[in-house]
Amino acid sequence: MNPLSSSATVPRPSACPGLLRIVPARDGGLCRVKLPGGRLTADQARAIAAASERWATGVLELTNRANLQLRGVRPEGADALVADLQAAGLGPSDPAADDVRNLLLSPAAGRDPQQQQDVRPLAAELLALLEGDRRLHGLSAKFALQLDGGEALARLDHPHDVWLSARAEGFVLGLAGTLLDAPLGLIPVGHEVATVATLLHRFLDLAGPEQSRMRQLLAQYPVEELLVGLDLLPTPSQPRAPAETARRLGSHPQRQAGFHWVGTQPALGRLPAATLAAVADLAERLGNGDLHLTPWQGLLLPDVPVDKAAELLALLAALELTTDAAAPLARLVACTGSQGCAKGQADTKGDALRLAGQLPADVEVHLSGCPRSCALAGQAPHTLLAVAPGRYDLFARDATQPGPGRRRATQLSLDEAAAWLARSPSDA
Ligand code: SF4
Repeated sequence: MNPLSSSATVPRPSACPGLLRIVPARDGGLCRVKLPGGRLTADQARAIAAASERWATGVLELTNRANLQLRGVRPEGADALVADLQAAGLGPSDPAADDVRNLLLSPAAGRDPQQQQDVRPLAAELLALLEGDRRLHGLSAKFALQLDGGEALARLDHPHDVWLSARAEGFVLGLAGTLLDAPLGLIPVGHEVATVATLLHRFLDLAGPEQSRMRQLLAQYPVEELLVGLDLLPTPSQPRAPAETARRLGSHPQRQAGFHWVGTQPALGRLPAATLAAVADLAERLGNGDLHLTPWQGLLLPDVPVDKAAELLALLAALELTTDAAAPLARLVACTGSQGCAKGQADTKGDALRLAGQLPADVEVHLSGCPRSCALAGQAPHTLLAVAPGRYDLFARDATQPGPGRRRATQLSLDEAAAWLARSPSDA
């Protein structure tokens, strides 16, 4: 067993961190807490903050799958840290189910004025399926589902193994792609959970050891093989409504009259434990006490009375959290980089902070320490891929190209990268 893994429960082998499987990184142990639908109570947030300060370095990260990571866990504190997190109700109902609790929904589900469906009840049923059906615990720790209610605040560009998206007629189904892809058909109303269960069992029936993800299986089998036993109806002609991702930051009206949600984001998804505890206190005082993690490495505080929203925005800004989608730090994404990851070719987080001061208006950039692209699942408009300390190759988004897109320039310093980013991507 990995010396950093908790001995309370022996986790299954995987390179991915989990709540019970703390994996070593350059800056210490890494513990990932998978949150049901990205939801966290104020008490749980404070428990995470306290455990992080007591047993780790007090550095927390919000992930692009709306989960939370504790960095720098000390080996001698691993068991106690896991016990503290479990005592706060952050573990799965069955320890063997920790890895498979991968269900992404909008942080504004149930509150977004544009939504077609309030997906929260169905999300609870799908999570119960993933946790309760022991055969599904054989799915990869990376195998992930997305449940989309048609909200304006939604991540449309994240690839998922299985996705359901609401239309007026019910939920359409898609595999191995994003909400922007063409669905395979409409699930008969009331059959959503049974359809997903049949599909996941079919996946496990067909998948060999080399096929842990849906796209790998579909490279070998026609999609019809996966859909055996399902009665999908023709896809409705109505497309999904566009998303407005700027609503992840700032104050926005909910469908419940008189209430706003307030979105915020720490620089590059990383925040001190004390800041999370302070946000939890604010959520309790000015919201409903819940924190919703977003797939943009941020936090959303729901159910804030309209007349309290301005006060909350000011208090979040005082905690050095971004609430403005136009701010440079809201337009930068960076992975852990060489400070915490052995694969990192450069200090991406430090370089991103340095680049923020020179970032041209409206430009969005992803800095990645290596081609694995941990911080972003899809292509960013601009990607700086580290090739050496302080040196990056620049790519522009291009769906016809794999990885980060079309290479525009190589071996750029940060100053040179800033100058390139000021030019049109169509410039060579
Ligand atoms: S993208 Fe590469 S360098 Fe960055 S965290 Fe992932 S593995 Fe490490």
